[in-house]
Amino acid sequence: MKIPLAKPYLDKEDAQNAYDTILTGWVTQGPRVQEFEEKFANYVGSKYAVALSNCTTALHLAMIVAGVTADDEVICPSMSYVATANSIRYVGAKVVFAEVNPTTYNIDVDDVRKKITSKTKAILIVHQIGMPADIDAFKDLCNEKNLVLIEDAACAAGSSYKGNKIGSHSDLVCFSFHPRKVITTGDGGMITTNNEAYRDRIKLLRQHAMSINDRIRHESDKVIFEDHVELGYNYRMTDIQAAVGIKQLEKLDKIVAERRKVAFKYHQALKDINCIQLPLEADGYFSNYQSYNVYLKPACKISRNDLMQALLDEGISTRRGVTTAHRETAYKNYQSNYSLPISEDTSDRSIVLPLFYPMTDNEINYVIDHFIRLVQ
Ligand SMILES: *Cc1c(COP(=O)(O)O)cnc(C)c1O
Repeated sequence: MKIPLAKPYLDKEDAQNAYDTILTGWVTQGPRVQEFEEKFANYVGSKYAVALSNCTTALHLAMIVAGVTADDEVICPSMSYVATANSIRYVGAKVVFAEVNPTTYNIDVDDVRKKITSKTKAILIVHQIGMPADIDAFKDLCNEKNLVLIEDAACAAGSSYKGNKIGSHSDLVCFSFHPRKVITTGDGGMITTNNEAYRDRIKLLRQHAMSINDRIRHESDKVIFEDHVELGYNYRMTDIQAAVGIKQLEKLDKIVAERRKVAFKYHQALKDINCIQLPLEADGYFSNYQSYNVYLKPACKISRNDLMQALLDEGISTRRGVTTAHRETAYKNYQSNYSLPISEDTSDRSIVLPLFYPMTDNEINYVIDHFIRLVQ
């Protein structure tokens, strides 16, 4: 048997909507992007949503509209995809890494508090592999210290916190639609917000800071000229991508429900193994299980890397757990004196098991049987 780590759920309906969009002749940011934005905002329960080329560009624009500049510091977890920290460097600000909680893999509020200085401008939290961070704790901290909260929700479309969808809790929530996430547009991103000024500035910046967008110009019966009012970017999503996103979004809750069924089967089968720690979903937290991460305690008879190889020898693809940005080469000469022992240990001892929809019981049991045989 050959079991991949992940595969996107894409169907004929997604393809048909892209096909139809291409034949309309309008392929870049236009009516489908607007429709996707309205539907996404409605889905998460935010006032507005602005579509972008990917989550990394979304994070970059979030930094800009939050007012983060080269004199500032922004606190984020090191244990995240490297794009999280990179987005802070794009605006020239200093990245300050905080530890994660070893059971949720999410950024630790007590460590963040210790790392706040007079230069801190924002806190960038991550809903790691789909598990919501404790948003209220960070909102309170940001209110107390007058900081901007930014959420990296790249993996968290369809997850919820205290009964509300991720995307509804604060004003700069950034999503990804890369194929490794729960729904995909090939590449794509979205920012949700209730703040009209943020929305307008993000819309401006994503399209070269052009005072009149090409759709308005196209539809106008008067000759009009645009101005470029500040340094802008091309971070647009295309209408072809949005057409796929509209249809993917309709299936999001179904995909999440099916992913959770697989996660619970893993949980049931593995919960009595003493040398591992399974993902913890506390009360009020609802994960889309973008990834199913297992932590191997020192008592396991096999190392993480040997386990990955042994599983691959059986045809089962896995990945190491979330990596740490501070140990990437791009951060070697960036700053020194990192002390992030929990992040390093959590990252080094974690393995991500295959999880996708549809995944058959046969496939799930094959992974479980080999995993149990090898770890204990
Ligand atoms: C995937 C991911 C990103 C980057 O998303 P793209 O859409 O590929 O730019 C950023 N942060 C986290 C936590 C991610 O998992």
